[in-house]
Amino acid sequence: MEVAGTIEAVRTSVKAARRNGKRIGLVPTMGALHVGHVSLIERAIEQCDFVVVSIFVNPTQFGPGEDFAKYPRPVEADLEICANAGVDLVFNPSPEVMYATESLTWIRVERLTELLCGVSRPGHFRGVTTVCAKLFNIVLPDVAYFGQKDAQQAIVIKRMAADLNMPLEIVVCPTVREPDGLAVSSRNKYLSEQQRKEAAKIYKSLRKCKEMSKAGVTDAKEIIAAMREILEQIAGGEIEYVSVVDSETLEKVDEIKGKVLVAVAIKLGLARLIDNIPV
Ligand code: AMP
Repeated sequence: MEVAGTIEAVRTSVKAARRNGKRIGLVPTMGALHVGHVSLIERAIEQCDFVVVSIFVNPTQFGPGEDFAKYPRPVEADLEICANAGVDLVFNPSPEVMYATESLTWIRVERLTELLCGVSRPGHFRGVTTVCAKLFNIVLPDVAYFGQKDAQQAIVIKRMAADLNMPLEIVVCPTVREPDGLAVSSRNKYLSEQQRKEAAKIYKSLRKCKEMSKAGVTDAKEIIAAMREILEQIAGGEIEYVSVVDSETLEKVDEIKGKVLVAVAIKLGLARLIDNIPV
């Protein structure tokens, strides 16, 4: 496995792979890799011949007072996970490599980024789309892999790629969960043992939603109320949103019909946890 810190090194290796007719897959991450990331890498390895994982804690997607400085950066462990998974190339640039000059150019996907997480994290998605566009331009992948765990991010990236005619496919992989249902996340490390136990109620609320929908309940208000009842039992938790939205426009819907996304964000101790299920 090659580890590259520069854009030139990535371009050279990818060019050689492409010359050999290989299909290039990219898995963008911020590191602190876990089984969720590995599921994306495994999918990329299944579908591609040359797999690049980027590990970059992107400063431009963190707001003031967010966890940029304390975000975990266990680089050695991450490289070992990538090597064991069969990754071909890890791109692990410094902020100076990714943002060599002051950026005057930003990508902003309208509307979709102003809803859900966009309300409390203004500027977050602008950082995400811009860094992903940069990574796509550096690696020139045929396919890029994202997780359903960050559903809004995946929808925003898909829209950016479509609107800007980016010549790649975006694949979204299912959320990997802990045995009690909590979505695996690098930020779960911020939870105390007690908070970690409480956090399982997030998935419990999503399951409740699924059950109600299966039983024929279509009224979004009724479903949200039942979910809130469970989420309010999370000791020390602060609900940011519980929303039933159209899975393309992310606009709130009153009734579950067609494809909707049920999404939740909760602040718990030092962590801000998000989760969702497509219904
Ligand atoms: P991050 O390093 O948190 O920016 O995540 C990198 C990619 O991994 C994103 O596309 C995430 O949606 C995805 N991801 C994170 N956690 C999970 C999970 N539990 N299951 C599936 N994908 C995940």
